[in-house]
Amino acid sequence: MGRRRFGIEGGIIGVVAAAAVSLTAAGILAFVQPGATAKASADTVDSADRAAARRVKVDTSIVHASDRPGRSLNITIDDGPDPVWTPKVLDVLKKYDVKATFCMIGPQAAAHPDLVKRVVAAGHKLCDHTVSHNTAMDHRPQSYQAQQVLDAQKMIEKAAGGAQVEYYRAPGGAFTPYSRKLAADHGMRPLGWNVDSKDFESGSVERIEATVQGELHLGPTVLFHDGGGDRSRTVASLDRLLPWMKQQGYGFGFPQR
Ligand SMILES: [Zn+2]
Repeated sequence: MGRRRFGIEGGIIGVVAAAAVSLTAAGILAFVQPGATAKASADTVDSADRAAARRVKVDTSIVHASDRPGRSLNITIDDGPDPVWTPKVLDVLKKYDVKATFCMIGPQAAAHPDLVKRVVAAGHKLCDHTVSHNTAMDHRPQSYQAQQVLDAQKMIEKAAGGAQVEYYRAPGGAFTPYSRKLAADHGMRPLGWNVDSKDFESGSVERIEATVQGELHLGPTVLFHDGGGDRSRTVASLDRLLPWMKQQGYGFGFPQR
């Protein structure tokens, strides 16, 4: 697209200082909305802006590695939050004391802020999975990509009450150099996967289990789903795979930033 290619930047580059902006935004809200409503709105803006103020630029490359040394896996859970399936996935993760990364769709996070807060409170991490889950978004204009990525980030951070969204996973892996840089500039490391459990397809629990067990040699980041339909097989396969992974000597980390 004639856009200049960007070089490889290593690790954390700098801190984005948005404290002044935060104060201004809260002040304006307090000014135009007097009374208790203004207080509530200002608090909401504050928590979202606190997350923004803590953001750091991260690398633009798509990460698969774990931040935990040794034999480690990154469990990633996509397409939620969902009022039926996310609580069940949270229960099974808690049962085995496993932390995961949840790649959320913005409007679903906005519709279920209680679930987003539960995910954060349980020690899991947040990932931006766009507004519309358009797996062809890499063929759309940059303005569309920006809206998909940044609007979802705002929705998820607001629902989370100020927790940061630390990763960006393009739906179906439809990353572009532009969207990767945009996400990285907003503190979200582009996140890939090594092992697709294919829990989205119609196979049995045994099939999902065998797929993951047979492909773990590909790398540490494993993909499951807690939204987009009946995820009972996902829950059942996690209930079998997580203890098996522990028996194999794996620990659980988060993707590197
Ligand atoms: Zn997805």
